[in-house]
Amino acid sequence: MPDNTTVGGVSVDTRHWIGGERVASVETFADSSPIDGSVLGEISRGTPKEVAAAVAAAKAAFPAWAGTARAERARVLHAIADGVEKRLEELATVETHDNGALLRSHRRGVMPRVAHNFRFFADWLVKLDHEDFETRGHTNHVSWDPAGPSVLITPWNAPLMLATWKVAPALAAGNTVILKPAEWSPLTASLLADIAAEAGLPAGVLNVVQGYGAEIGDALTSHPDVRRISFTGSVPTAQRIAASAAANLTPLSLELGGKSPLLVFADADLDLAVDLAVEQYDNAGQVCLAATRILVEEAVAHEFTRRFVEKASRLQQGDPRDEATDIGPNIHPRQLEKIDGFVRRAVEAGARAVIGGHRKEGQYYAPTLLTDVAEDSEIVQEEVFGPVLTLQTFADEGEAIRLANDTRFGLAATVATGDPERAERVTAQLVAGTVWVNCFFVRDLQAPFGGSRHSGVGREGGTWSFDFYCDVKNTVTAPKGWADH
Ligand code: NAD
Repeated sequence: MPDNTTVGGVSVDTRHWIGGERVASVETFADSSPIDGSVLGEISRGTPKEVAAAVAAAKAAFPAWAGTARAERARVLHAIADGVEKRLEELATVETHDNGALLRSHRRGVMPRVAHNFRFFADWLVKLDHEDFETRGHTNHVSWDPAGPSVLITPWNAPLMLATWKVAPALAAGNTVILKPAEWSPLTASLLADIAAEAGLPAGVLNVVQGYGAEIGDALTSHPDVRRISFTGSVPTAQRIAASAAANLTPLSLELGGKSPLLVFADADLDLAVDLAVEQYDNAGQVCLAATRILVEEAVAHEFTRRFVEKASRLQQGDPRDEATDIGPNIHPRQLEKIDGFVRRAVEAGARAVIGGHRKEGQYYAPTLLTDVAEDSEIVQEEVFGPVLTLQTFADEGEAIRLANDTRFGLAATVATGDPERAERVTAQLVAGTVWVNCFFVRDLQAPFGGSRHSGVGREGGTWSFDFYCDVKNTVTAPKGWADH
């Protein structure tokens, strides 16, 4: 088997990256493009043997990296950001071929954000501090000690972006990393390994192991030398990881799915509310934060739906490399089947497709809006992870809040209202890690990010990331001469 493949003119190594070297597995798996189903490459199919080697490499590299001065660690992280910026076009191209998200988004939004992830945590690291305080003349000093080798497991919907949300703070904190990208989008993690090596990151500090979660997940998450596990993905996988990590009580960060609401009050700017709703089709609906449950006040429901249909019908669906495209393909034939199954069962149960409700040629699903859906139905309660929205109506604020919170998830919520007092009242009662008022997807890296209930455990971003990746220690020192007393 060849050791690399060429995707959109970019050469990508298809092997693992362990201890500063490329390592091949005996077997490979085929990685296909959602754009046309073509095979992009044969990727090393990891086994517990490669996992053991990667953890050993991360363990060996840990003392030196943890002991490296903060300013030097920050310098290397900035050099990685430089490398990402230098190869931005290549990263954007490969990611689009691999996961089908829009090339223009990768170029203008996602990949610049990847570079920013490294710059942000490098800068935050340098200023990370806690003021000393006194207890009966004794000094308390809080320090953030690097925790150790960290396993980072990531999904396919925003592969490099989500991986680097974890890699950057873990490395900044002084930890070493074993990154396991999703098997449906393994390529940009391999390019990141090249960029990190070129930036001067020492061997073994970042390791990348490719393969199926079902085959190597347990070896990664039950390993006694792993000190942190950070996972972004689905609830069932998170439950398996939590059970596996329990043996060593390894601390976990879990960023999971959602079924977030968009609440549209009659006093809202209706065009803005429609824009916010249509935005939920971004990335073909494969966004954890997507507000897939639209809740509209009865008085404006008819007009909202009319304007929504008008705007959504203008969306261009097609090749994600085309600048004019608004919605690309879904990631995998299996994901498409899953989406279609959800919609078919909903329609059988009495739902009405106002738009969409069907597959299209190739790996595409038509943007769909379903009405006449019951509050406790599968389509309202379960995450579809495709371009499928439901619409329910409410009579008053109390009902809106009740419907919004009637879910096992709690990742995000969006409120469209022209009344600031209502916004304050409503947001205070919503169960969600992030609430947006009259906006969507605005995210600052210093803000906490995460979910409540089945949407996750813990928060990432700013200090919260360092709290997770470090063993926070308080050292209490007696005043000078104390021992003489
Ligand atoms: P998934 O759970 O199927 O897979 C995620 C990762 O886990 C992959 O790398 C996979 O190989 C690995 N994995 C699978 N089985 C494993 C096991 N037993 N042990 C360890 N690792 C294992 O999720 P997905 O389909 O790739 O991603 C979609 C899900 O991710 C959706 O539910 C979405 O909402 C969620 N998501 C959440 C966020 C967030 O920040 N909250 C962001 C993006 C996606």
